[in-house]
Amino acid sequence: MDFLQSIVDKIQRKLVFVTYTPVNWKGYVQAFDWGITLFETYLLLRQFPLYSKTDPPPALAGHFTPDVFKKSQEYGRDKAKFAIITGLLKQALDSAALQWGMAAWCWKLAGQAIGALGYGAQYEITQSIFFVFILAFLSSLPTLPIQWYQTFVLEERHGFNKTTPRLFIVDQIKTYAISVLLGAPFLGSFLWIFKWAGDRFVPWLMGFMITFQMSMIIIYPTLIQPLFNKLSPLPEGDLRTRTEKLATRLNFPLKHLYEIDGSKRSSHSNAYFFGLPWAKHIVIFDTLMQQSKPDEVEAVLAHELGHWYHKHPLKLLTISQLHIFTILAAFPAFLKSPPLLRSFDFPAEVAKKPPTMVAFLLFQMILTPMESVIGACMNAISRHFEWEADHFACTLHERLGEQATTSDRDKEEISEMRSMGDRLGRALITLHVKNLSTVWVDWMYSAYHHSHPTLTERLKELEMYKMEQQSQLKKAT
Ligand SMILES: [Zn+2]
Repeated sequence: MDFLQSIVDKIQRKLVFVTYTPVNWKGYVQAFDWGITLFETYLLLRQFPLYSKTDPPPALAGHFTPDVFKKSQEYGRDKAKFAIITGLLKQALDSAALQWGMAAWCWKLAGQAIGALGYGAQYEITQSIFFVFILAFLSSLPTLPIQWYQTFVLEERHGFNKTTPRLFIVDQIKTYAISVLLGAPFLGSFLWIFKWAGDRFVPWLMGFMITFQMSMIIIYPTLIQPLFNKLSPLPEGDLRTRTEKLATRLNFPLKHLYEIDGSKRSSHSNAYFFGLPWAKHIVIFDTLMQQSKPDEVEAVLAHELGHWYHKHPLKLLTISQLHIFTILAAFPAFLKSPPLLRSFDFPAEVAKKPPTMVAFLLFQMILTPMESVIGACMNAISRHFEWEADHFACTLHERLGEQATTSDRDKEEISEMRSMGDRLGRALITLHVKNLSTVWVDWMYSAYHHSHPTLTERLKELEMYKMEQQSQLKKAT
């Protein structure tokens, strides 16, 4: 803890100017936010002409019928157009809200709200919770029609939407209710730790955040997800047997195997795992099972288990802790900075003793450009993890072949895993075809936005692994 604190102190000495010197923070946030939006628009404009291509990349030519390819291009073009318009629209609204001091106005409104309930300004945590909810609610209003359009016009037009208007509204209400039920105690504790720990809040808050993230791993799938989707045990059959065997062979601590009714809202498909280190659960979308054969779904799961084998979730959690630490370590200078609040139109009497929540929110806004860069780096890391997981699936038979096997049946089954790469390839192609995913991708757009390598890249790589294995086999015989 002392070690963490000494880093924090070092950073603070560098940032001491923030506390006393007036800086045009608002102008800085405006400039950078517009900068990011315009850069993202530029990326979309780079990508846009690729939707006019009339043929798929040569590697995919055999898999996309002309009709399906045309549909995927139209879907991509519609989505890109939508992203350009909504991106600029959202930025214009955010920019106007920033210019007119919406945060300061919400703080005042929160003060009036708790005043009406008989609480004064000394109840800073209560006012902060009201402040966050008012601000979050008002900011979410413009996104409602955008989401509506996306679901009922854009996705509908391309045949993906399965949501009914009733379900859409119920989902929104549930989301708001959960944010209040979980968010209020979270925020309350977060702010209380600040007050209680004083200048040494960084290690305490880190501990709190880790505990919260861990409990969410349990709470989310058991309490929250069932509010939106039905998870039911995967029925007995080929897929269940295959998955259980695969888990046993790899010592994957499989506790439950679920099927999720993803088709209730959309026909996009997927599979994933979650849970604590000693009890994991695998979830397969019903849509994936409808679209692919059991041996192909098994290959998708082999890829997923590759993420587990290489400890990708743990690595991501570690990176996120470092990220949280950096943010918290830089924060103290901003916490006691009246010029910061003044720059965002807060009145002098609020600014002279900045409320923690307000300072934290403004600090977050200042970090936005850094967060975009971090987001792009995280995508690069994620793409690397995807390669590793693909490689894991392709080389599974080698890995398992090393284990001493006694029965012929066992040997035969492991030998069948040689085709894992081919099956994964087929599953990925089906996934892309059914989801009408974009196949022509601009490199810069992809580097910034994509958490997965493109289909063409992955197929090439799967092919390469296969060749490597064949040449090794030749050498061996
Ligand atoms: Zn993956």
